[in-house]
This record gives sequence, C-alpha cells and structure tokens, in this order.
Amino acid sequence: MKIIFLGAPGAGKGTQAEIVSERLGVPTISTGAIIRAAVKSGTEMGTKAKKFIDAGQLVPDDVVIGIISERLSCEDCRNGYILDGFPRTVPQAEALDKMGVTLDAVVSLEVSDETIVKRMSGRRVCDKCGASYHVDHNPSEDGVNCDKCHTPLSLRRDDAPEVVKNRLEVYHSTTEPLKSYYAEKGILKLVSGQEKIEDTTALTLSVLGVN
Ligand code: AMP
Repeated sequence: MKIIFLGAPGAGKGTQAEIVSERLGVPTISTGAIIRAAVKSGTEMGTKAKKFIDAGQLVPDDVVIGIISERLSCEDCRNGYILDGFPRTVPQAEALDKMGVTLDAVVSLEVSDETIVKRMSGRRVCDKCGASYHVDHNPSEDGVNCDKCHTPLSLRRDDAPEVVKNRLEVYHSTTEPLKSYYAEKGILKLVSGQEKIEDTTALTLSVLGVN
C-alpha cells in the first residue's frame, strides 16, 4: 500500500506512520527525518535546510522533491511505503503525481491547534535514531533515554513555542489545501486524533480497511 499521512506538526503523523508501517511491512519515509540527518551530518543540503527548519519554515520544494524521488527509487519501496511529512505543498503533490505514484489513501490526522501547542512542549526525541516520545502520552521506559538505542532524549529545537506557532501557520496556509487536492481524487480519509495513541491507531486502521 502507498499511504500519505497529513496533519499539523505534532498531530501524531510520525507515531501513527511507524505503527501502520510495521503492521503493513512497508517502510515509513519521513522527509523531516531525512533532512534532520543531513543537518546533523553537515551535508551541503543539510546546511542549506537548517535555516528553514530552525525558523519553522518549509525547505524549498525542489530540495524535498529531489530527496523523495531518490528515496522512492530504493528497493525497499517496491511493495509500498508510508509518507510522513511529504507532500506539504501542492507543487510537491503534483511532483508525486508526475513520478507516476498511485496512492491508496491519504490519512489526515485532525487535531486542534490548542492541543498541538500543548503536545509539542512534551515531545522528546532521540537525536541518534529519530525515535519520538511524549512525557505524558508516550514516555520512554525510564523517561530520559531512548528505548531503542539508550541515547539521552532531547527537545527538538523547532518544537520551541514561537517556532511551533510559525509551523502551524505554514501548515494551515500551505499544507492544509492538500486535503481538497486529495479529496477531489476521492482518497482522503479524515481521522480525528485521540488522546491515546492506540485509539488513533484503531481509527486509522479502520479507515484504511486493515484489520
Ligand atoms: P517534520 O519532522 O515532518 O515535522 O519536519 C521538520 C521540518 O523539516 C519542517 O518544519 C520543514 O522545515 C522540513 N520539512 C520536512 N518535510 C518537508 C516537506 N515535505 N517540504 C518542506 N519542508 C519539509
């Protein structure tokens, strides 16, 4: 299956994408994670992208489209994938169409801005493997280190309140129009984000028709 997860930053796209991808046995491709890895390793693309990420702005379309077209041509994408955080603009969605990708579903996780702002302050991430936790809703086992690789968890710089405000504005102005784009194609599925991760997963699997 080829599925897109849409949603505001902090809506739970990454968490749900990981769960559904394990269930379906297909990879999750997160443009945010790929870009953060490039920033960390100081590549040319990473250096260019850093200023956009730190300001809560989108990285230019040509950069992310290049990342995605390269990643989707990898062997592990042959049987499908879940896209987490791509596309985020109409030109990116059009580029995906031009690549000949036929999507099965686009899941939009619906969460209010108020809830997002509250959630983001509790999010903790592992800089080494990219795993994501939440101090209240999804803590790591000991609350301070990553369960997978035992690295101390940290706050993402772009989860700072003023940056979150920018990211939400960008989401509403630039990414949310993708809901109509995919609704017109008849593949948009709305899922109301629940407080408990497993409740959102149950709704997500149900709209995807996966038991
Ligand atoms: P995320 O981890 O998905 O929240 O992405 C973190 C940041 O990476 C975003 O705020 C953007 O600056 C950048 N980014 C990730 N995906 C995209 C995309 N599809 N288009 C543009 N910028 C992106």
